[in-house]
Amino acid sequence: MKDEGLVSMCSAGQCVYNQQDQCHAEAIQVAVHEDHADCETFSPE
Ligand code: SF4
Repeated sequence: MKDEGLVSMCSAGQCVYNQQDQCHAEAIQVAVHEDHADCETFSPE
């Protein structure tokens, strides 16, 4: 069983992987930044 999560909803509309608020990246990396999680796979369009 894989231990990676699947991201579906994402509100980062400026990300190249975001299509209609859904993430289409095969895998993402998330890091904790101060008091919230940030997606490190974010890639501007
Ligand atoms: S890669 Fe990260 S920021 Fe981009 S759509 Fe997916 S979850 Fe959102």
